Amino acid sequence: MGERKRNPWRGDFPILGTEVKGKPLVYLDNAATTQKPQVVLDRLFEFFARENANIHRGVYYLSVQATDAYDQARARVADFLNAAMPQEIVFVRGTTEAVNLVARSFAGPRLRPGDEILVTIMEHHANFVPWQLLAEETGAVLKVAPISDAGELELDAFENLFSQRTRIAAFTHVSNSLGTINPVAEMTRMAKSRGVPVVIDGAQAVGHGPVDVQAIGCDFYAFSGHKLFGPYGAGVLYGRKELLDAMPPYQTGGDMIESVSIEKTTFREAPERFEAGTPNISGAIGLAAAIEYLEKTGWKSIRAHEEDLLAYATAKIGAVPGLRIVGTAPEKVGVVSFVIDGVHPHDVGTVLDTEGVCIRAGHHCTMPLMRRLGISGTARASLSFYNTKEDIDDLVTALGKVVSIFGNAGG
Ligand code: PLP
Repeated sequence: MGERKRNPWRGDFPILGTEVKGKPLVYLDNAATTQKPQVVLDRLFEFFARENANIHRGVYYLSVQATDAYDQARARVADFLNAAMPQEIVFVRGTTEAVNLVARSFAGPRLRPGDEILVTIMEHHANFVPWQLLAEETGAVLKVAPISDAGELELDAFENLFSQRTRIAAFTHVSNSLGTINPVAEMTRMAKSRGVPVVIDGAQAVGHGPVDVQAIGCDFYAFSGHKLFGPYGAGVLYGRKELLDAMPPYQTGGDMIESVSIEKTTFREAPERFEAGTPNISGAIGLAAAIEYLEKTGWKSIRAHEEDLLAYATAKIGAVPGLRIVGTAPEKVGVVSFVIDGVHPHDVGTVLDTEGVCIRAGHHCTMPLMRRLGISGTARASLSFYNTKEDIDDLVTALGKVVSIFGNAGG
């Protein structure tokens, strides 16, 4: 247990001390969701135990306190993304809702038949299906940028796909299936130099370091709080203020209006215009607590540990007989996807589960990518800063069990 004990952050996450099927939990599914530190759990408890009230509408103490905490959460997220102001942060359910909001409210009204939407083949369905549907509805055309066999975006091909008709470019910062980090600043420059607005799916990027939306130059940036060590149901859409203010509401109801009469309703500016109804107050506050925790922990040490761990995991996992790593781009976060000759990824996941090792198996909501790679799915270990080399060793030992059970089924 030495190595696990030496990791300075594991003790902050109560779940990591638990056992699964009598074995220490080895949690390697951080791309699906991250575990929550005690400080986030404490903050949620504190909020419900002592501060809970609905926001905005109350003149009494508790409501004012809750409103303040919600506003502070927005400011903390703005700081984390280096947004120009807190009003550029819209709280939504998650990345999925954020992308749908931009597709429906920003892109939809701008699209005419024959216009083009540019995405990449490595998109999660959350940043693919909304654009595909919108294209079908408006008569626009979906253009899909290719990748190399290593899982790296073909940047020249991406650039060549821009045309006079390109109306929006939507791409992922980091691939959830491959771990590839895309050169989003360069991609954004390519789009903006042609006057094309940019939406970035940051779901897999934020858990590995802060993001500077102004340095990237994008118009929209989406992420999910639960992948950033925060609660479920609290996600973020960053949007440039002047764009958000010019967009029609996505949903309507309470809290987002300026005035309502029988004849006409007028709407508030962003971000309230996009937060109809009671928002996820506790979720936003919990997310802010997660960001505060990460800042105190220090992104530099988090990054250094993750890079070391990825190199170790790549070497150890890659040495398992009959196993092939899928996604070997030079710039990667801690995601190791792999296939084993003759063994279905779900069988890999099931055998690993008997050893207390949690990984994900399947298409990872990237079916077009899997088709491009000529496979139906992968097994995927995804790392975070609380993982250790011991976790990787346990995974590799369990993979040995997979290989011995299925033998040389693939020949
Ligand atoms: N985009 C990417 C790259 C993802 O990995 C995910 C989730 O795995 C999503 C979008 C969707 O996130 P959510 O389900 O939290 O909306």
